[in-house]
Amino acid sequence: MPSITAPPARARLPHPYPPELQALQAARASLEGQLDWPAVQQAATPWVNAVRAQPAPFWAMESLLREYPISSAEGLALMRLAEALLRVPDAETAVALTADQLGRADFDEASEGSQHKLLAQLSASAIAMSKKFLPGSEHPPGLLQRLGARTVVAATVRAIQLLGRQFVLGRSIEEAMDAAAGQNGALASLRFSYDMLGEGARTERDAERYLASYRHAITAMTGGGRAASPMASDGISIKLSALFTRYEDAQRERVFATLVPRVAGLVGLAAAANINLTIDAEEAERLELSLDVFEALAADIAARHPQWQGFGLAVQAYQTRSLAVVDEVAAIAQRHGLKFMVRLVKGAYWDGEIKRAQEAGLPGYPVWTHKTHTDISYLACAARLLAHAGVLYPQFATHNAGTIAAIVQLARKAGAAFELQRLHGMGEGVYREVLRQDPAAPGGEGPPPVRIYAPVGEHRDLLAYLVRRLLENGANSSFVHQLADEHVSAGQLLASPLQPVAEPALPLPPALYGASRRNATGADLTVLPMREPLLQAVAQTQVEPVAMATPAEAGAAMQRLASGFEAWAARPLAERAAILRRAGDLLDARLAEYCGLLVKEGRKTLGDCVAEVREAVDFCRYYADQAELRLADQPLPGPTGESNVLRLHGRGVFVCISPWNFPLAIFAGQVVAALVAGNTVAAKPAEQTPVVARRFVALLHEAGAPTDAVAWLHGPGETVGAALVADPRCAGVCFTGSTAVARAIHRTLAGKDGPIVPLIAETGGLNAMIVDSTALPEQVVDAVVQSAFRSAGQRCSALRLLCVHESVADGVIEMLCGATAELRVDDPALLATDVGPVIDEQALAGITAHIQRLRGSARLLAEAPLASAHPQLVAPVAFEIASVAELKEEIFGPVLHVVRWGGSVEPLVAQINALGYGLTLGVQTRIDSRAQRIAALARVGNVYVNRNMIGAVVGVQPFGGEGLSGTGPKAGGPH
Ligand code: NAD
Repeated sequence: MPSITAPPARARLPHPYPPELQALQAARASLEGQLDWPAVQQAATPWVNAVRAQPAPFWAMESLLREYPISSAEGLALMRLAEALLRVPDAETAVALTADQLGRADFDEASEGSQHKLLAQLSASAIAMSKKFLPGSEHPPGLLQRLGARTVVAATVRAIQLLGRQFVLGRSIEEAMDAAAGQNGALASLRFSYDMLGEGARTERDAERYLASYRHAITAMTGGGRAASPMASDGISIKLSALFTRYEDAQRERVFATLVPRVAGLVGLAAAANINLTIDAEEAERLELSLDVFEALAADIAARHPQWQGFGLAVQAYQTRSLAVVDEVAAIAQRHGLKFMVRLVKGAYWDGEIKRAQEAGLPGYPVWTHKTHTDISYLACAARLLAHAGVLYPQFATHNAGTIAAIVQLARKAGAAFELQRLHGMGEGVYREVLRQDPAAPGGEGPPPVRIYAPVGEHRDLLAYLVRRLLENGANSSFVHQLADEHVSAGQLLASPLQPVAEPALPLPPALYGASRRNATGADLTVLPMREPLLQAVAQTQVEPVAMATPAEAGAAMQRLASGFEAWAARPLAERAAILRRAGDLLDARLAEYCGLLVKEGRKTLGDCVAEVREAVDFCRYYADQAELRLADQPLPGPTGESNVLRLHGRGVFVCISPWNFPLAIFAGQVVAALVAGNTVAAKPAEQTPVVARRFVALLHEAGAPTDAVAWLHGPGETVGAALVADPRCAGVCFTGSTAVARAIHRTLAGKDGPIVPLIAETGGLNAMIVDSTALPEQVVDAVVQSAFRSAGQRCSALRLLCVHESVADGVIEMLCGATAELRVDDPALLATDVGPVIDEQALAGITAHIQRLRGSARLLAEAPLASAHPQLVAPVAFEIASVAELKEEIFGPVLHVVRWGGSVEPLVAQINALGYGLTLGVQTRIDSRAQRIAALARVGNVYVNRNMIGAVVGVQPFGGEGLSGTGPKAGGPH
């Protein structure tokens, strides 16, 4: 199939963030009168009893969960080890990781009274031994201890490999097919769906590797022949994010140009072999896109392989839109005259979906918050799939005995063909019982066909999968978990799930910060009705130049603000706080308008703009709360007869000077903090971004701030800024910008006669990230690309220096290089743009000169292509330099420096400290004690562990540095 043009984006599905109960109504209503639940219980009770009488073997997933529940310290430690240990190449680090994780759990205790002696022995003996041999901390142990430690680590590695082996059918497709043949020997009706393990591709090379492995698997499975039917033969599951680095809604054009033809190639092979090929489901933000891709492929199948009935899609019942997805897939089948296979699952990304919605301030969740709602939804989707039996062949993936019995009942009533699916290494007990079904029993047609979803791959790739499955099934509410818990009776286990719960299980994202402070409203740019108003605002916004104030006008403004001070300071605190809250609400409601301004004036990408407006809203609400909490009169203890009260009040006129890189959020944060404390404010934005600042000051006036309490003063820093600072009425300065300007301001203030004027300064940084060999390379590269290149590196928190352990450096650098090459560097007004231009010609010249110098003195590692000739674009680059000390000054652009490190981590932290800045630091390690120690040693304001290091959230990650990076107080924090 040749590369195709993306069809226009359209919303096929309902809004993804509906009120939960309301959205559930459709699912409930569709089940009305459909299910005889007592009959379900009757069918499933013997299965449950039989499974309990004959517990799963020690190596089954349910045994592991029972032995070491993930909610326990032991479970967590085991999961962490399983996830990380096998990829650590150097022995020293492996010892440190094992000591760290095993040291924080009590495995002796956990294995006490265990029914699974072998597992207990396997894990616990190595683990208990480790207590004797592993160093308690990372201090260098003696030789004997080191030898002992290595033995323990080797034993632990072996234990984890053995454990992992139970969950892959084979390391290669050939091995897996052999294993499948063995199982088929026991039960000829078993089918398999092979899943080639792997995470999403970060580089084009990864994607090509996955593509080749899928191709090879299909060919190996069929040996060039043709199966009788996709239902009766083994199939394959593919993950689209493995086949293309940018399988994202914002990259639609590229998805259709590159990914769709790739998948079409695989589809063609599967069709020729007449086997089932299922596209696995991924995150909610890809759901609409996945249907567009599915339909494009369906059109191709209709043209080339109209007889093939093996094309399939997985549908996740935990999505609030799942029922609509089922209908849409059926509609696609009808439109193209095809029949599809649909795998119904519960869904594996629940935690991630919840977190994303909270962080993004969305109106609700895209998934059900109650487990029982997912159960209801699952049954409703099952019934709907069966109702579409003419065009869909349902494949029900579940380990829940009640759900299985319900499906069997529904299917018999509908007279529809279907199959059941389970994961390899899981649910064997329940399925053993289901498959025992007597053909002579009521209904009489014997057990339904069963397919095993079978991961294939190396251990390294297995573990991320395993962790996901453990998370999915390890929750206390999961059926698998409860089945293993004898305190839960069969009756409770099989109770009808059809009773919805009125309130969501979690506060909705707007209520994340409790009742007093509403989370700022965000927008999901993958949802058309949410992004259209933003794109329209961008298209309609024009930024006209505005006149600058003269130093004389600045003086007059200072006079006005000085006169206004007394009246403003006398306003009750509650009134001042109310004005901030009103301003926050007004701004919250004008997200689109301000995004338009920020894209056009600040040259920021839309995603950055949404985050910035939200930060400004948060500042207004947070400082209102903090003021009421901290500035109220505080009675103090004292001797009898005395009344001591601490009273705080404003100082006078505060001069607030801000940079262009957060022209709304930093500007607003400084101004409202000073204002609510009872100061009047002279607010000077950066020369490059006066318009958005003016609009915000107007909004403050609209919210009730008097015009003689806050004034906008646009002008050059050297004249207007300097005049404001030097003005005798200036009672305090709040500054964010470069270290050099902060020094100039400090000198001016120090040279003034009269009262000593305080300066709060937030300045630049030379921010590093330390990566050791336990870190997950994919996670590292995601964090590095975002931290170093997002916002074109024009964030004070941006990553400038990546310090990667020598034992993993080559791999990480290769992945970083590939990921950088996939960035889209273009006009910020385009949705697809990842990296926009730098702020102006002067910035461009400075950054370009630095890059030129590096080209002569350092090794170029990575460089992104420019997508267009849009002005002032700088291609993100990474250079390897020889030492930390080579880094001298902050380069405010998308330029990353990389060094390799080895040995102990302390000297590295000391070198970073010696740079003199202290803003942000990233740490990527699975050794918790190491992360803690680095954080304790580093002289920086904010340390981020195993995540990116930008985007501090107000009231959640108070932000501010030390040393050359600032005077200490934190924005968005109580100090
Ligand atoms: P800048 O220092 O050039 O300008 C900042 C502000 O200071 C502008 O409003 C400017 O007009 C004003 N100014 C310049 N000279 C002045 C003078 N002599 N007297 C008074 N005011 C004067 O910084 P920038 O280029 O706008 O911003 C980028 C810098 O800001 C980077 O160094 C970045 O790290 C830093 N920054 C720090 C933080 C933080 O929180 N630590 C946040 C954002 C940006």
